Amino acid sequence: MTSAENSGKIKDKENSNPEDEIFYFEEHKEKYEEYLKDVPDKHQKALRYAVDNCYTYEMNDDRVAYAYSASLDTLLYNPKYPRFKDYDFNTTYTHELSHYLDYHFFRSFEDSQFSKSISENSYSNQHIQKFIDEYKIDLKEHPELSDIISALKINKFKVLYGHPTTYWLRENVHNREKEIFVNIFNLEAQNNNSDIDFLQSCFPDVWKNYVQVRNNGLNKIIKERIDNVGNETRTNGISDK
Ligand SMILES: [Zn+2]
Repeated sequence: MTSAENSGKIKDKENSNPEDEIFYFEEHKEKYEEYLKDVPDKHQKALRYAVDNCYTYEMNDDRVAYAYSASLDTLLYNPKYPRFKDYDFNTTYTHELSHYLDYHFFRSFEDSQFSKSISENSYSNQHIQKFIDEYKIDLKEHPELSDIISALKINKFKVLYGHPTTYWLRENVHNREKEIFVNIFNLEAQNNNSDIDFLQSCFPDVWKNYVQVRNNGLNKIIKERIDNVGNETRTNGISDK
């Protein structure tokens, strides 16, 4: 399982209830519908497509809480993972669904301009620190930004949430492109305008190329949805002319 990984926001401990031990995926998925209502329109349509089309499977793998496996084309989750309940479902689910969408539509890992913009030497540690100070950002409170910096700098800039250097350097899988793409997409879904503002100022090239990849992919998804509706209409015997 090459794309297995760990991600997502850790929730405050205060809500944990020992009686509420069983994790019902379907229940969380239903509540996710509510969450989606506040997501920007095109992102919402894309994520809803992913909810409807991405397989999910409860697994028993001690290494991960949630993961999207491209080889299985399935979102995996493991409620037995330590502190599984501390993961914020909505943002973690968005993260993994975005990997599904990336694999099928955005293909961030194939875009040479996007890859070029995330070269580890593009932004110095001083440059990043300057913007962190200016925006008064505590990276502990910003898991997506933290992971983006972990990817960009291949852990040469110290952050709390990220992936191991071996994960970033794994050959021919473009994990850095994939995680940066998915984290920015997730921030947009969250309407996290202040983090997006930080990204635009601190990493303007990354942002510019991200927008390109994101817009191309969103258009593909919207087209795919229209085609699906067309098919449905045809099979129901209604002319779609
Ligand atoms: Zn990920």
